[in-house]
Amino acid sequence: MATGKIGVTTENIFPIIKKFLYSDHEIFLRELVSNAIDATQKLKTLSSFGEFKGELGEMNVRVTVDKEAGTLTVSDHGIGMDEEDVNKYINQIAFSGAEEFLAKYKDTANSIIGHFGLGFYSAFMVSKKVEIRSLSYKEGAKGVQWICDGSPEFEMNEIDKKERGTDIILYIDDDNKDFLEQARIDTLLKKYCRFLPVPVISGKEQEWKDGKYVDSDKDKVVNASEPLWTKKPTELTDEDYLKFYHELMPGNEDPMFWIHLNVDYPFTLTGILYFPKIRNNIDIQKNRIQLYCNQVYVTDQVEGVVPEFMTLMQGVIDSPDIPLNVSRSYLQADQQVKKISSYISKKVAEKLDRMFKDDRKSFEEKWDDIKVFIEYGMLTDEKFFESAKKFFLLKDVSGVYYTLDDYRKLVEAEQTDKDNTVIYLYATDPTAQFTYVKAAEDKGYNVLVMDGQLDPHIVGLLEQKIEKTRFVRVDSDIPERLIVKTDSKDAGLSPLQTDIMSTVVRSQIPEVDKAQFIVTFAALREDGAPATVTQNEFMRRMKEMAAMQPGGGFYGQMPDSYELIVNTEQPVVKKIIEEATSSLENEVTPIRAEIETLNNEISEARKKATDNKEQTPDLSDKENKVAELRKKEEDIVSAYAKEQPKVRQIIDLALLQSHLLSGESLNDFIKRSVSLL
Ligand code: ADP
Repeated sequence: MATGKIGVTTENIFPIIKKFLYSDHEIFLRELVSNAIDATQKLKTLSSFGEFKGELGEMNVRVTVDKEAGTLTVSDHGIGMDEEDVNKYINQIAFSGAEEFLAKYKDTANSIIGHFGLGFYSAFMVSKKVEIRSLSYKEGAKGVQWICDGSPEFEMNEIDKKERGTDIILYIDDDNKDFLEQARIDTLLKKYCRFLPVPVISGKEQEWKDGKYVDSDKDKVVNASEPLWTKKPTELTDEDYLKFYHELMPGNEDPMFWIHLNVDYPFTLTGILYFPKIRNNIDIQKNRIQLYCNQVYVTDQVEGVVPEFMTLMQGVIDSPDIPLNVSRSYLQADQQVKKISSYISKKVAEKLDRMFKDDRKSFEEKWDDIKVFIEYGMLTDEKFFESAKKFFLLKDVSGVYYTLDDYRKLVEAEQTDKDNTVIYLYATDPTAQFTYVKAAEDKGYNVLVMDGQLDPHIVGLLEQKIEKTRFVRVDSDIPERLIVKTDSKDAGLSPLQTDIMSTVVRSQIPEVDKAQFIVTFAALREDGAPATVTQNEFMRRMKEMAAMQPGGGFYGQMPDSYELIVNTEQPVVKKIIEEATSSLENEVTPIRAEIETLNNEISEARKKATDNKEQTPDLSDKENKVAELRKKEEDIVSAYAKEQPKVRQIIDLALLQSHLLSGESLNDFIKRSVSLL
């Protein structure tokens, strides 16, 4: 027997391992199984080069739980180690500057392992003692046993081992007894070893016997050793891809399509990315890409590793260039990983571009489903935007798709306003906004559908990126003013009429929940609607964006503000104006005159005070009087308006068109309509 001291520069490496790696204890299994796989692969390689001439035999890795003995054993039939190897690879932990490294990464202890060849030593996170029993593949090699109890002292013996390969036996410590449960080990193997390239066996297949599940004689293989992404795309059928998808994402609908990544240069990367059908619930679906390093599972926390928008996709990425044992923040900062990320983004853009060019019709059919990915990509990734603008599609209300360039050509002539800005009209709900869509179409305009979850943001982005472009929702103004080509005609009302009519209309607007209205007048087409409700584009967008943020924000609290535009050219309105003016003129004019006199006195007094740099005198008597007179005028006009069912009727018609009339007001409207017949 020989004893010795493990050659690390930091004397007390084990306490450090135990302490720092506390949270991630379970990865020891990944480390040990990966080592066993490596040893197996190495022997296969030697054999294929003729450097190993013996029988390979059964080349699998076995994980055995022995609850009674309190051990967990990882066994392989790989190259094995002789005494010299153990000395070299296990006893001399080759790392310099350990302390410096630990100091730097003390918060991300995970990065210690692997990076400095500490994979094997992670066994000490869960064991009070670790034993290695190994027989090298080399001819005439002697079996070797190595035992260590977690102190830097170890013991090494020659043993009689018949089978080539290595057993790593962990004597599990009391705090980690859960690793002696087969079910726990099964879960971990499923997580980390599911796609390892060599069969991994643990426990037995279950069979149904005498009313319960029991172990059969058959070994249970926990992994698929040739996962789909390692195969050539040309050898695979759609069924293969779909089957693999459903293994990865049980219970999901079929994906729309997929991209098989296969690169050798400038780095090695394989993988399959699926585009799921998601439409409008993008939040719940994130983080469904698994990262592998040579078929060893690394993480599914891929944010920052793959481009942001791809976190909506599902599938696997495998690259030996993705460092296996580092924390996510380390991954995100890694230059290689950054390259990988932008490479994948480029690949995805290329694939979409090809799909678009090869078969535009089928691309259009998929568009509504893939739109959210593409929009997300365009919003979060400048480079992706540049590629995507060639195949990004706009859809109009009749279901025709256009590229950005084509659409511009289509609408440029008709929809350019007096400031040379091209106005893109859109509806968010073509059915609800039907009258507005129709009115815009009657004017020869085209109307787009922008009903996606990210569309409010895309609208903003496109306005920024495409010069002289503005998006305007069809119901944000009356058709005549959606695209302002010349300065508009004024409403043709005298100040007295404006005053009277404002009150007439305002006093008759019914209560609408969370809405406020301003009343304006415009001289529009004679055969147009008597009144129209529109919603200000800016406020509406702000509110829509606010709705997507938690809590709703400032704009979320605001009521919806609408404009009620009364068409002074419309014959019914014309008549209302005439009648109101002649009925109210005599009563209102003296009041207005009195108000004017008082207002003049007030402003003169103010002006005088400012000119003489004196304090403003107390004008509250006069101001109160003005308010009183205003109220009086308003009461008179409102009382009159109340007796004019036609006023209410034109308002209600406008509200009805905008889906703002409901409940009691709707009931009143119907009754009034019948009585007006
Ligand atoms: P790494 O795997 O990162 O090199 P480890 O500490 O896990 O670091 O392993 C150190 C070395 O010990 C390996 O490179 C390998 O040479 C040897 N080794 C570990 N496990 C085995 C095994 N099961 N069979 C053969 N050699 C092994």
